[in-house]
Amino acid sequence: MLPPGSTIGILGGGQLGRMLAMAAASLGYRCHVFAPETDAPASDVAAATTRADYGDADALAAFAAQVDVITLEWENVDREAVRQLAELVPVHPGVHSLEVAQDRMAEKQFVEWLGGRTAPWAQVDSRAGLDAAIAQIGLPAILKTRRMGYDGKGQARILVASDADAAWDAIGQQPAILEGFVNFAHEFSVILCRGQDGTMVDWPVPVNLHKAGILATSTLPPPALVRAQAGEAAALARTVAEKLGHVGVLACEFFACSDGPRFNEMAPRVHNSGHWTIEGSAASQFENHIRAVAGLPLRPTGLMASHIEMTNLIGADADAWPRLLADPGVHVHLYGKGEARPGRKMGHVTRLGK
Ligand code: AMP
Repeated sequence: MLPPGSTIGILGGGQLGRMLAMAAASLGYRCHVFAPETDAPASDVAAATTRADYGDADALAAFAAQVDVITLEWENVDREAVRQLAELVPVHPGVHSLEVAQDRMAEKQFVEWLGGRTAPWAQVDSRAGLDAAIAQIGLPAILKTRRMGYDGKGQARILVASDADAAWDAIGQQPAILEGFVNFAHEFSVILCRGQDGTMVDWPVPVNLHKAGILATSTLPPPALVRAQAGEAAALARTVAEKLGHVGVLACEFFACSDGPRFNEMAPRVHNSGHWTIEGSAASQFENHIRAVAGLPLRPTGLMASHIEMTNLIGADADAWPRLLADPGVHVHLYGKGEARPGRKMGHVTRLGK
């Protein structure tokens, strides 16, 4: 067990790192953020920051020398860099989790190998390959880059065959997969945490509503169809975590379809659809992630209310802060980001009870 006063290194400086650092501080740890951006939200609440590119081997080695353990809040960190770090200091989650989660194709193959169902998909490596994939999968479909896709980025919808040229250009003509459109009733996520000793906890499952590819709300309890599928999805997510030897929080997103759950994607880190756990659960995803990384026992994940809703504050939504802060029923979280650009996650609010 990492003793209080130790330093946890966090790769990535966004709001997830900010909330991890706050949870770590409650347990007596210091956090050292490694991030390339000048105005990292996590740096405001961390003891130290190294500002450097993720590929800067010297900066990474110096960072490793100043921390006792490393975790991440951004999974697209270069794997080689993480491998280098892991030779110097423990890194949780490890390289295997990143390898699978960084590549949509590896992720889908891994989940299918474990018996999970995904959207129908095909590999696309060229413009001609896209035509072949359309012939195989059918339309409508979504072209997604294999790497660096999140919040609907790196995706283009193909409704009719004549959209293919524009879609291939829109994703930057890079290795991709074509996914058949899933006619889902709801979206939901399984969030679990696995400790260094292999023990696991998972949280009750929220239903997630997305707008323009970005999470808008997570609500509990979810509708009956999601409740009926949550057990099967959680069992798959637990197997994924086990097989990866994952340590820390793992989030798996699912489509609830009439014929059962279909796996969409995973994130080897704390997740936006788990922000409600800060007030809505006996232990937040951030606390249990830090506990896992520090080798502490995990805490139970029971609900604190029968109805819980987390709403993201995207772009100008955050301008409503005076009204939100004046509402006694609302827990407000603002990420300290300067400019409210459209699509930018500025904060979130959580309501317990109706
Ligand atoms: P992703 O980045 O893959 O999670 O995609 C962002 C959002 O786009 C998802 O949360 C869904 O709302 C939607 N989406 C992604 N893939 C599909 C699909 N194969 N069929 C229907 N909707 C999808």
